[in-house]
Amino acid sequence: MIQLNSVYKSLKNGQEQLRILEDINLTIEKGEFVSIMGPSGSGKSTLMNILGLLDKPSLGQYILDGEDTSQLNQTIQSQLRNNLIGFVFQQFHLFPRLTAIKNVELPLIYSNLPKKERIVRATIALKKVGLSERMDYLPNQLSGGQKQRVAIARALVNKPKIILADEPTGALDTKTGAQIMDLFLELNKEGVTVIVITHEKDVAAYANRVINIRDGRIIQDRRI
Ligand code: ATP
Ligand code: MG
Repeated sequence: MIQLNSVYKSLKNGQEQLRILEDINLTIEKGEFVSIMGPSGSGKSTLMNILGLLDKPSLGQYILDGEDTSQLNQTIQSQLRNNLIGFVFQQFHLFPRLTAIKNVELPLIYSNLPKKERIVRATIALKKVGLSERMDYLPNQLSGGQKQRVAIARALVNKPKIILADEPTGALDTKTGAQIMDLFLELNKEGVTVIVITHEKDVAAYANRVINIRDGRIIQDRRI
């Protein structure tokens, strides 16, 4: 499903070349639940952005769902991203002036789905995350956990095969964070590949594989 071969990422900072990721080799099979841990600045989000086709490696190969992504043009890459991947972020990234259901509908607008179909699918996604009663609320009328559930519904609405979540519990209290992780676990049981970045051991323990990153390198990769 996901294969990184000798992936490097470097960025220019004035004259200096910053090495962000070094020699990353990683295979993630369909249906895995993976946690990525590591100190601040170790390269976790950069890795996640590459996995999500939001960023490109400087060197190396990324094969996603059988496609060598470096060989694909921008349009095909965006299609692959929309069809395969759902993103969830620490700060929810909801549009503040759109209701929950409108936020969830957004990815379907980009997919050119007719309005009726969009509403049906957004309603199903919100029901799945337990927010049927809150569909017409604005983000600031929802709790942190509810906002994150809207964000997850939005990530799900295109029926992704992969969920990429960058510190999804980082802005939530422990109990609410656990509810969000339970939701990911449920999705994983339905066959979705889940990859979660976290600083918290308790959160990482939901996964069946934990990858540790330090200074842009994988220093540990173990199944639990
Ligand atoms: P955190 O846990 O704080 O979110 P992280 O592991 O996600 O950290 P990244 O965001 O991947 O870390 O960043 C890795 C390194 O790359 C950091 O040293 C960061 O400063 C650097 N970096 C990331 N993006 C850029 C950029 N656009 N320009 C310059 N440096 C960057
Ligand atoms: Mg980060």
